[in-house]
Amino acid sequence: MSRGTATDLVYLIAIVGFILALKGLSSPKRARIGNLAGAVGMLIAVGWTFSLPEVHSDTHNLVLMLIAMVIGAAIAVPAARLVKMTAMPQMVAIFNGVGGGAAALVSITEFIGLPHGTVAIYKIAEVLFGVLVGSVSFAGSAVAFAKLQELMTGRPVTYPGQQAINAVVGAGVLALAAATLATSSSTLLLLLLLASLVLGVIFVLPIGGADVPVLISLLNSFTGLAVAASGFTLDSNLLIVAGTLVGASGILLTRMMSQAMGRSLPNILFSAFGSVVTASGGDGQSVEGRSVRTGTSDDVGVLLAYARKVAIVPGYGLAVAQAQHTARELADSLAERGVEVFYAIHPVAGRMPGHMNVLLAEANVPYDQLKEMDEANAEMSTVDVALVVGANDVVNPAAKSSPGSPIYGMPIINVDQAANVVFLKRSMRPGFAGIDNELLYDPKTTMLFGDAKESLAKLITAVVAA
Ligand code: NDP
Repeated sequence: MSRGTATDLVYLIAIVGFILALKGLSSPKRARIGNLAGAVGMLIAVGWTFSLPEVHSDTHNLVLMLIAMVIGAAIAVPAARLVKMTAMPQMVAIFNGVGGGAAALVSITEFIGLPHGTVAIYKIAEVLFGVLVGSVSFAGSAVAFAKLQELMTGRPVTYPGQQAINAVVGAGVLALAAATLATSSSTLLLLLLLASLVLGVIFVLPIGGADVPVLISLLNSFTGLAVAASGFTLDSNLLIVAGTLVGASGILLTRMMSQAMGRSLPNILFSAFGSVVTASGGDGQSVEGRSVRTGTSDDVGVLLAYARKVAIVPGYGLAVAQAQHTARELADSLAERGVEVFYAIHPVAGRMPGHMNVLLAEANVPYDQLKEMDEANAEMSTVDVALVVGANDVVNPAAKSSPGSPIYGMPIINVDQAANVVFLKRSMRPGFAGIDNELLYDPKTTMLFGDAKESLAKLITAVVAA
């Protein structure tokens, strides 16, 4: 077998690993094994690449590559180990950004090395695509990171004529790409790079911090496409397939997240959602002075202990409070008393896709207790107590009943159909969408104010004592 055929074969095995990874990651049960399949695929790909004579015989480049890998690993490994679950979106943003930036740099290097005059036009087009899309992804991801890390305001940054300015810059980038294609000028390529970086920044500025996870998924898809373009430039089937997989899965994820939020992608990208916040007041009272029913942990403990069926609905606040283990302990103590308990998982509960599945899996919640939204809703009318732990928007009936509401049309977990609803949150403040939740004022709702983890711990004591 020739070395070329062997390389194709080994890369094919690596590609199968990537595909198995995506398949595995689509279910909590197989996520770990899927992740492992992807990592093994990557190890095979990198290991084989280093074994190629053209790579390991060029000592200068080999040393540079090894230095880059050591620096990358020294930064990435501790970052990935130390990151908090609530800070995961910004870590994905920054990792994605460097991927896009790397793809753009590869394209630039290839452009510089292209022989003048004899190059097929499609070769230059591939390079330009990589520079443009990679730079937009790099700059956009950097701003997304800054928003999520609170290095800058998370609110949409808007100014008069913003859409028109963005359109002009976008058109300018395309014109520069066309001019570079026609002339192969390095100066124009440099201008294209700068204009694409500007486009990445101004594209992301009007997107509110809370919509940024959807944006990151879109930018992730851009990075995949830029990597695929690098693959064409370098004649690497592995990069083409890996980039296309990232591009396609990123776009599918973006679509799923938009649908789960009941909003269109243009609405997320261009409507500056979240710039106006209709915040409520402090504990127990809304700004209009409407009162709510508050309960003690003992009251709620008794309610739970004597229920037949309890649905736990986790949300962003559970992640903030890191209350997943305590939630499971409460569920265990209820189950010991013969109460049927399940977790109702909304697809966009939290701040990133699969957020609640990941947290609950970390707390070793049995998979058969996790119910996706439709399955959970089918039995919500038979539930005695819906215990809403740090969730708000994903249970807000305004999504069904208020056509003017920003979340109108978003499918929700129908906790309003349960016999009793208990909210564990710290105050009457709204969630991500910045809107009041009428269900908090419903006569069948009890508010247990406090940090989710502390409240759950008190509930365990109360359930045991009941
Ligand atoms: P929300 O943001 O609607 O509500 C979270 C609630 O948690 C708040 O009302 C807050 O109230 C409470 N909370 C915060 N910290 C604590 C704490 N330590 N203890 C107890 N409660 C706490 O979250 P949901 O999960 O219901 O909804 C997710 C929202 O995020 C949706 O609007 C969704 O569209 C959006 N989104 C989701 C993405 C995803 O991929 N998952 C991506 C982008 C956006 P208080 O301050 O009073 O405690």
